[in-house]
Amino acid sequence: MAIAEFMQLERPRPRDIEELFQADLWELGMAADALKRKLHGDTATFISNMVFNYTNICVVECTFCAFYRRRDDPDAYVYEPMAAVKKVLEVDAIYGIRQVLVQGGIFPEIGIEYFEELFAEIKRRAPHIAIHALSPLEVDYLSRRERMSYREVLDRLRSAGMDSMPGGGGEILVDRVRREIAPKKIRTDVWLRVMEEAHRLGIPTSATMMYGHVETVSERAEHIYRVLELQERTGGFMAFIAWNFEPGRSELSGRVPYPHTSVSLLRAVAVARLVFRDKIPNIQAGWLTNGVETAQLALHFGANDFGGTLYDERVIPATGMKMPILRRKDIANMLASLGFRPAERDNWYRIVRLY
Ligand code: SF4
Repeated sequence: MAIAEFMQLERPRPRDIEELFQADLWELGMAADALKRKLHGDTATFISNMVFNYTNICVVECTFCAFYRRRDDPDAYVYEPMAAVKKVLEVDAIYGIRQVLVQGGIFPEIGIEYFEELFAEIKRRAPHIAIHALSPLEVDYLSRRERMSYREVLDRLRSAGMDSMPGGGGEILVDRVRREIAPKKIRTDVWLRVMEEAHRLGIPTSATMMYGHVETVSERAEHIYRVLELQERTGGFMAFIAWNFEPGRSELSGRVPYPHTSVSLLRAVAVARLVFRDKIPNIQAGWLTNGVETAQLALHFGANDFGGTLYDERVIPATGMKMPILRRKDIANMLASLGFRPAERDNWYRIVRLY
């Protein structure tokens, strides 16, 4: 199917999306870029934020993850809530941040009070920092641990200060793939159900996709379709972020020895823009695993957001990959040098400062 024909479809089906994945890369890029410019002009956004990984102990043991540790591993760690707050305040004092992305492993000793204390204290000490926290996996875990419904868990977290939820754990929303790469992780329907509950409560979230391991192109298309389907019902996804699997030191690396290249990312970003259009208006370039240069290219293939400064992120360095430190000035200068109008945004993708 030609791209122009695809754009005539009111509601693409998974097989239409699969066909779009096969289109010529440059044609995809040009169509996605034209649509992005219609929606966002020449503005490219980013956020000054940090990632706070509260523990690396995790019982889910996904085969693609090089970050998790078992309880007795010498380098296992857990932050006490007050030490966590101190860390967030320290990073804020150095860099000035608008958002903290809170994520960690599934450690059965951590209950909902841990997060209530952490979020409330961050809000008390630094109300200007938005809390973008946890993922459907963590919400599902808390709901089972505390014997509460998803709604009750989300409500308590929100009352404590959680502003929005990232899309972690989405990987590929097809159970065949999930069983293979993360047999102990929540299944597709649970991920979507928690997201739907959050949206119904007015908690905005992001959707993610991690590709480049054991999935087929048709399963990537299915993933995008499931996200679109939910978005049409709730409108709660603020952004879509795709990234390639980084084999590094993970268990899965033996089966996927060569990481996907920039071409896969550009294709995923362009397809996402052409499928989601203005329904999910923000498509992130995601420099963390894709690399800064690829993320720059992605801004010409349909992405409008460069993502965050991501101070203190630990998951990717655990794979052995080196991460540059990007300050807000570095990102603004880089976006300007690419011909974009750099704009700093807040947690809700509202522009707060033009450079
Ligand atoms: S990806 Fe998340 S859930 Fe899976 S092992 Fe790593 S920390 Fe645990």
